[in-house]
Amino acid sequence: MPSLEDAKRKVEELVVAKGFGNTPDEIANKLLFAFIELGEAGDSWKKGKPTEETIEELIDVIFYVLDASRLISPDADLDEVFERKWAKNMNRPHRYGEGFRDKKPGPA
Ligand SMILES: [Mg+2]
Repeated sequence: MPSLEDAKRKVEELVVAKGFGNTPDEIANKLLFAFIELGEAGDSWKKGKPTEETIEELIDVIFYVLDASRLISPDADLDEVFERKWAKNMNRPHRYGEGFRDKKPGPA
């Protein structure tokens, strides 16, 4: 099964082959592009475009996230980090983070 680390290496291969920026000073741009692609996914969904198109935009987001991650921390093992973060989130209380809705004061 392909892993996040496999996907990250493939994105690196693409970046090098196509001559995209490949240095740490490109990190901010890549994170910005991830947001832009996320906006494209939202727009595609909102406009009722074919779901394959929306999914492709989400894959673009993943490309930029993986690309930024390898420049931010080349030694980070994303599969390991994913598992660790997954376990951390699984150990949180049910619907954690949504409690603020009950505590919000009502209209005056
Ligand atoms: Mg796109």
